[in-house]
Amino acid sequence: MSSVYKPGYLEVIFGCMKSGKSEQFINRFKKLAHSKCKTLIFKPAVNVREPGIATRAHDITLNAFVIDENRPEDIIRYLMENKGTQFQIIGIDEAQFFDIKLVEIVDNLLRNDYHLIISGLLLSFKAEPFGPMPYLVGRAHEITKLTAICEYKDCSRIATLTQRLINNEPANYDSPLVLIEGSGQTERYEPRCIHHYILPRNHPKE
Ligand SMILES: [Zn+2]
Repeated sequence: MSSVYKPGYLEVIFGCMKSGKSEQFINRFKKLAHSKCKTLIFKPAVNVREPGIATRAHDITLNAFVIDENRPEDIIRYLMENKGTQFQIIGIDEAQFFDIKLVEIVDNLLRNDYHLIISGLLLSFKAEPFGPMPYLVGRAHEITKLTAICEYKDCSRIATLTQRLINNEPANYDSPLVLIEGSGQTERYEPRCIHHYILPRNHPKE
């Protein structure tokens, strides 16, 4: 048995936008590629809508199996169907987009001695818990919390929050949690410190 594989072990990498989560996640799997471990990565389809194998555009090619974010149970189904491969370390990228059912799936995988490495945004653009992420952080045996640098003008404080900008203006609290591409608006995200994070509300906070 390889020493990098820890049965029933959960690692969670989280932080705001541009905190380097993907790089960290990819580096973990890059290192694992040199071990004898059988690894597999899942990611949510979100706007892709075409489940299947996708290749990540980074310095190395990591294949990820894209599944419907509303059906995280497909992770179990895929593993059952490919039992012969005996995967040991399972990666789940952008876990915040998955349905809350992902928590149950993760519990199940841990009970079955899979070693999981999960990456995602802990907080949404509303600075509120994002999908299953807080539940996963709470279950983790090991966490890596990443921060970014505030991108507001000349500020260079440490950023822990994600600012959504729509046509360069801060998005309203009532803006949908996940924006569907092609809505005609220009949506972008910036890491921001608490001083420069802005969330306009139609109704003042109680
Ligand atoms: Zn700032």
